Amino acid sequence: MIEIDLAEERKEILKRYKKLLKMAKPVLKPGDAKIIKKAFNVSNDAHREMRRKSGEPYIYHPLEVALICVEEIGLGTTSIVSALLHDVVEDTDWELEDIEREFGTKVAQIIDGLTKISGVFEYGSSQQAENFRKMLLTLSDDVRVILIKLADRLNNMRTLDSMPRHKQLKIASETMYLYAPLAHRLGLYAIKSELEDLYLKFTDSETYLFIVNKINETRLSRNKFIKSFIGPIEEELLSQGFKFTIKGRPKSVFSIYNKMKSQNIPFEEVYDLFAIRIIIDSELENEKADCWQVYSVVTDFYRPNPDRLRDWISTPRANGYESLHTTVMSQTGQWVEVQIRTVRMDDIAERGYAAHWKYKEKDTPQKGTGLDEWITQVRTLLESNDGSAIEFMDDFRGNLFHDEVFVFTPKGELKVLPNGATALDFAFEIHSEVGAKCIGAKVNQKLVSINHKLKNGDQVEILTSNKQKPTEDWLNSVVTSRAKAKIKDALREEKKSTILDGKEIVQRKLRQMKMEFTSEVVEQLRAYFETKTPNEFYYKVGKGVIDATSIKSFKEFKEQKKQKGKASFEKVKDETSFTKEIKNLKGPDHDQLLIGEDMDLVDYILAKCCNPIPGDDVFGFVTINEGIKIHRTSCPNALELLSNHGNRVIKARWTSQQQIAFLAGLRIVGTDRVGLINDVTRVISNELKVNMRSITVDSDSGIFEGSIKLYVHSTQHLEKLMSNLSKVEGILKVTRFD
Ligand code: MN
Repeated sequence: MIEIDLAEERKEILKRYKKLLKMAKPVLKPGDAKIIKKAFNVSNDAHREMRRKSGEPYIYHPLEVALICVEEIGLGTTSIVSALLHDVVEDTDWELEDIEREFGTKVAQIIDGLTKISGVFEYGSSQQAENFRKMLLTLSDDVRVILIKLADRLNNMRTLDSMPRHKQLKIASETMYLYAPLAHRLGLYAIKSELEDLYLKFTDSETYLFIVNKINETRLSRNKFIKSFIGPIEEELLSQGFKFTIKGRPKSVFSIYNKMKSQNIPFEEVYDLFAIRIIIDSELENEKADCWQVYSVVTDFYRPNPDRLRDWISTPRANGYESLHTTVMSQTGQWVEVQIRTVRMDDIAERGYAAHWKYKEKDTPQKGTGLDEWITQVRTLLESNDGSAIEFMDDFRGNLFHDEVFVFTPKGELKVLPNGATALDFAFEIHSEVGAKCIGAKVNQKLVSINHKLKNGDQVEILTSNKQKPTEDWLNSVVTSRAKAKIKDALREEKKSTILDGKEIVQRKLRQMKMEFTSEVVEQLRAYFETKTPNEFYYKVGKGVIDATSIKSFKEFKEQKKQKGKASFEKVKDETSFTKEIKNLKGPDHDQLLIGEDMDLVDYILAKCCNPIPGDDVFGFVTINEGIKIHRTSCPNALELLSNHGNRVIKARWTSQQQIAFLAGLRIVGTDRVGLINDVTRVISNELKVNMRSITVDSDSGIFEGSIKLYVHSTQHLEKLMSNLSKVEGILKVTRFD
């Protein structure tokens, strides 16, 4: 057992406390140090017996949070005191009244706010949304509550190492979902980036370390490049009498990661790995002119990209960010982003909201900055919001993000997907195996199809089946490149193995018939079965579209030809002539189309406008680009097609020998009750062994409306199903739709 040296620990606590005081010194007014000392003593006392998960004394945490408030956000005494005491009411015997008595109303209010928003966040539940709403409500009381909360979260993220894995995931996800966007919105750029980086570190440590290492590996050459790039600019700015600093900093790990992922490129191809920042000393009234003067110097040396000029000085961003950005071409042919700003602007850019205060005379925010307007806006939104908390959160987050959806696994782990991503994308994001076997999903407990589009905050559970296999049309159901690549892989693999299977069958069959397996025979087989390539022939055999026994008929055909004494088959190398001969033997094309063969490989499709199924009266229609389309004679388009394009209509009928499933749609209306969906799906899947493709259900003020797409074998089959469904308690109407 490790002996804890308490004396040593006390020393360390004091050391940390002194550091806090030292950092706070510039903002302290007379008497402030005394209040801070009192808060420290109260907190240290109250948490005396407590330790963090890491084993360290608990007081380290409030001390660190207070330090972040001072150092990284730029807050003052009230916030330091509140930060030191932020966990006291929740974790110890201290009551809010005690705080108010000892430290005054303001501190008590802030701590009350902090305690209110510290509840446990449950994913996908309204509790989470409600908590978030509460948190935003505190904006209207005192924005410092949010800022201290962010400091608290930042310290927790920095010390996440000692937490168990499931807590790490939960806390990291929550951070990414709520706190990073909030930090961004409040203009706390540095904190936002660090939170995102830490999120990546704990959710995908492999990628995180990979990028960190890459950044380190390339440091030397990068620094050399930066030095030669800024050389001439530095010289010119000095000669013009500017006071300035130039920094060349790599972008955050997370933003590099994002770029690699969204553009699907390796680290080496992320061209804007770093940005050059020129920070000038300037009087408030000269700021704009000075920045543009620097811009002029930069672009004297390097040619700017006109599409990449951003003037956030004339029009600051909504979160208060001011800066002038340009992207220029370096001597080595590399684009480099240059950010030009003043010390004041840089302060605001890094530390956001609190920095505004520093540059205003009073301790209260003034009207007119984008941020204050935003806070007013949020306040109005909160006060006027009469919808549910979840709706509210969606609205709020909707304003923060446009390109991404944030969704959760059943365990609360966050997944970030591009906008428009579907349940199937999500499945492939989890694992390629899960994707390949995906048959549908439950989104917020509701059953949805694989191509269901996901929304912010959705909690998604993937349903799989071992019988499932990716198909060609899955490619239309996904947007992520990961899912697309995996589906293509699977299709290719599937095809390859079917071809191999087919080839084996052919070889075996030929052996049985005492025929040799030569490329010549294969070529003849290919032509006899009217396929374009040997592989297509094998594929059809492998799929069972070409029955292996029919290879026998090929042999008979060949022998027949020999007996007729015509030129030996082996000599017919020209495939078209072989095909012609076959046609002559088989007679003219059938004048009637038989439907019911393998749907993927025969050149006809079932019309989407009427979704015919076996048993329906149908006809074929020769389209320009899509081969033959099968319509029901009762199709709404039938009249037009039959009357105006009669020459393109061909007779068609169903073959009955094959049991093929056809897609049909049913609309169900009824009165809602608990368990209704269960009963409906049970009728469909248990009683009749029908496969459902999708089910969507809407329930509004007691009325239940569902549409189901399912696979049936025939009209009789469908009718039986409809009659069974209408017997379910509560169902009023069952109709077929196309
Ligand atoms: Mn805390």
